[in-house]
Order: sequence, then C-alpha cells, then structure tokens
Amino acid sequence: MQEVETKPSGVTRWLQSLRNWARKRSLWLLHMNTGSCNGCDIEILAALTSRLDAERFGVKLVGSPRHADIMMCTGAVTLTMVDALRKTYEQIPEPKFVVVVGSCGSTGGVYKGGYNTFDGVDKIIPVDLYIPGCPPKPEAIIMGVAKLIEKMEEER
Ligand code: SF4
Repeated sequence: MQEVETKPSGVTRWLQSLRNWARKRSLWLLHMNTGSCNGCDIEILAALTSRLDAERFGVKLVGSPRHADIMMCTGAVTLTMVDALRKTYEQIPEPKFVVVVGSCGSTGGVYKGGYNTFDGVDKIIPVDLYIPGCPPKPEAIIMGVAKLIEKMEEER
C-alpha cells in the first residue's frame, strides 16, 4: 500500500511563506460596530487617519467582508446585531482574525449583564486579540495590530 505524503512540497512551502509575507504587510480591515456608544469607533478612525497613519503597516479600511483579513469589532453585541455579526464573520475568507476594541466588546463593559446585550464579541464568534480600554487610545489600537502581526509571525 502506498503511503500518503503529508509534508508540503518545497514549492508549496515557498508559496505559503510568500503568502504570509504579503499578508503581514497588507492587512485589510473591516470595522464592525456591534452596538458600541461610538467612543471606540472614533478612536479606530483616529488610528487610521494621517496623524498616526496605521496604513504605514499596510492596514487599510475596506467596506466588504470578502476583501478583509481582520474584523475589528466594538460594542457588547446587542440582540439586533448577533445575526449581522455572525454572517459578516462567515463572509470573511480564511485565514481571518478578529480584534476586539474596548471593554464592551471584550467583556460587556458598562453594559455587562444588560437585558439586550451578549457581554462581548467572543460569546458569538472566536476572538484573536483584545484591546481593552473605555475607549482605548489610538496608540493602543496600533500596538494591538502590531501584536497581531507578531502573532502571525510566530505562527508562520
Ligand atoms: S468601551 Fe467605552 S467607549 Fe467603547 S463602546 Fe464601550 S462605553 Fe463606549
């Protein structure tokens, strides 16, 4: 009986490392508000605009989940946003990453235990990175993205 080869060939490994190299330098980001007060959202926009310029790391805002590598979520997830969050997550191609910005998205924050919230994004979809704060500073958001790139390098 012939043995099945499980190790990737040299060309496959080269293509994988090329893909990882390119991905680290062009992380496209989809911003998703799952019911935040907009405080965290304003800080995300501040991180993306010219003063702090997250684009120098290749981070670019996109409008379609099909073009995104990262979904950056804010808010404790209200009942009305659950389906939208799940469906948007499913539309992002693999490999994908979910980053939560703010205390509400991480644990429910000031809305924890509320009758119409889910106490955080990870109750609905898997989360790769949390950036705590109410709201976190734009510098902290950029630091979070840098940590994510580091994590991707380790997983290579
Ligand atoms: S963490 Fe603070 S700023 Fe962010 S959505 Fe919650 S209440 Fe608003």
